[in-house]
Amino acid sequence: MNTFQQLGLEDSILQAINDLGFETPSEVQDKAIPILLEQESDLVALAQTGTGKTAAFGFPMLQKIDVNSRTTQGLILSPTRELCLQITNEMKHYGKYYNGLNVTAIYGGASITDQAKQVKRGAQIIVATPGRMKDMISRRLVDISKIEYAVLDEADEMLNMGFYEDITDILSHTPQDKSTWLFSATMPKEVSTIAKKFMHNPIEITVGNRNESTNQVSHEYYLVNARDRYAALKRLADANPDIFSVIFCRTKRDTQKVAEKLIDDGYSAGALHGDLSQNQRDLVMKSFRNKQIQMLVATDVAARGIDVDDITHVINYQLPDETETYTHRSGRTGRAGKTGVSMVIVSKSEMRKIKSIERIIKKQFEKKEIPDGMEICQVQLMSLANKVHDTEINHDIDPYLNDINTLFEDSSKDELIKKFFSVEFTRFHNYYQKAKDLNAEAKNSSSRDTSDEKSTRYFINIGKKDGYDWMSLKDFLKEVLNLGKDDVFKVDVKDSFSFFNTETKEQEKVLAFFTDFKQNGRFVNVEISEDKGRSRNRGRGGRRRDDRRSGGKRDGGRRSERRSESRSGSSNRNDRRRSSNNTSSRRRSDNDSSSRRSNSGNTSGDFAASRPRRSRRK
Ligand code: ADP
Ligand code: MG
Repeated sequence: MNTFQQLGLEDSILQAINDLGFETPSEVQDKAIPILLEQESDLVALAQTGTGKTAAFGFPMLQKIDVNSRTTQGLILSPTRELCLQITNEMKHYGKYYNGLNVTAIYGGASITDQAKQVKRGAQIIVATPGRMKDMISRRLVDISKIEYAVLDEADEMLNMGFYEDITDILSHTPQDKSTWLFSATMPKEVSTIAKKFMHNPIEITVGNRNESTNQVSHEYYLVNARDRYAALKRLADANPDIFSVIFCRTKRDTQKVAEKLIDDGYSAGALHGDLSQNQRDLVMKSFRNKQIQMLVATDVAARGIDVDDITHVINYQLPDETETYTHRSGRTGRAGKTGVSMVIVSKSEMRKIKSIERIIKKQFEKKEIPDGMEICQVQLMSLANKVHDTEINHDIDPYLNDINTLFEDSSKDELIKKFFSVEFTRFHNYYQKAKDLNAEAKNSSSRDTSDEKSTRYFINIGKKDGYDWMSLKDFLKEVLNLGKDDVFKVDVKDSFSFFNTETKEQEKVLAFFTDFKQNGRFVNVEISEDKGRSRNRGRGGRRRDDRRSGGKRDGGRRSERRSESRSGSSNRNDRRRSSNNTSSRRRSDNDSSSRRSNSGNTSGDFAASRPRRSRRK
């Protein structure tokens, strides 16, 4: 890998790069910058979001333009106002050692006169959204007849948004002999059409695999009946208490509707779509960045500007019309070296879309099942138990402890634990105990789902914190239990615990094995899950055998001791974030909008268990 200096960049830029703390060029920068500096040619660059494309075109453009002239020499088109401002801002940072540099942003929703004034002052570089740009050209408020460089940033997205005509129109006002640089995350045929039409023998560079989504993202789908879509979404959220997600809907209307329902049901959610005012959108994004919103429901277009690194889940509430768009969506998670999950809620009629997405992303989806009520109760309970375990004691509580201690004078630790956790558990339990199975039957399922009758679901107290993901846990279990390749299934790994299934005939063996099993000096404890996990006929009168329960439940006290013994008090980032924020976990009486809620300073720490209570009320 080269250094920035070796790419041929001059001191003014190198100094700015130094100030920004960039140490080595990213791959797209490494490939694009030398070409753009040395040649006056057109370029098509394909690279995922977050790979540093702005600097890849920004550095060369800044170095090549003449800051002593007031003529507009560079035009950068980008799909949204957010991106437009982001690029302008970056360009200003990159070019801060060029005296006289004027980079102007042109976008809708702000005063056109002010923008025209800025251009008039001598903007060498204009960063614009197509709509406003076209408008300003037709009013003769800008002159791009002398530009030398035109950048089409996020070209695929601009075309998705229907800017083809505008772009064509804008480019018709630019000189023939300029250089055109096109940057895009994907290469659908519309983009190659534009490349053919407006570019001359472009040099093409590709970073990573064309169209392929990042390795950090696993893809899952959940097959439900269309009418259960929303209920399924809620389950997925409840089954992932630390979720920080973007939920994609197809239309603005659905986006608004789903967000409103979620807020109504007590989730910290918000909507992001084009019918909101800029101010509203800014507020929602701010709350999302601050993690006051855990579930951001968005349209594809509006989500384009989202630049948040630690999104844990992308949920496709509906699949996009364009298969390519799926890559943009799933690319919102698994960024900056983190892993992420892209979930799709599908109905039977959409199953073929899954296949065509698989072809594009060159990855397989894993078919997962919507967790049933009891599994969610268990997840939520354990999540709370972990939070309580990791909570730092706040000594401001001391003056009140006397009264509390008196109240519980006669209660044992065991009883106290049971009571304490019952407070939250009962809420979820009441809500979910009669919840129906939301999984729709696949037409010809050859998977394990049909053999559920004979399978047992277990709870095991190791999880992500112990370094497992579903694959490595499956391998581990197969090995220690001496089972075959397909004998451990439905492995679902959470932070500090996991679930898995085996055939019921292996049950004795599994339980016996783990009675005294220790790993790294700690007990690994397995129990039969309260619910065996999505038996098909649950709703029609539990077929579950009671001996399962008694067989699985072992000495509860011992188990909780083991668990606390095994947990060194380390907590992952999420848990820490949450426990420190979690000053009030039951502030649910307000019927507030999420943005107002966020002003009160705490939502992210809310224990999700309050949700069922609210929705039950409805
Ligand atoms: P893209 O346009 O490909 O989505 P951006 O240009 O917006 O990506 O860059 C993503 C982030 O990475 C920005 O915050 C940017 O400042 C940062 N960045 C870009 N290049 C480098 C680099 N060489 N080293 C470190 N950070 C970089
Ligand atoms: Mg970009």
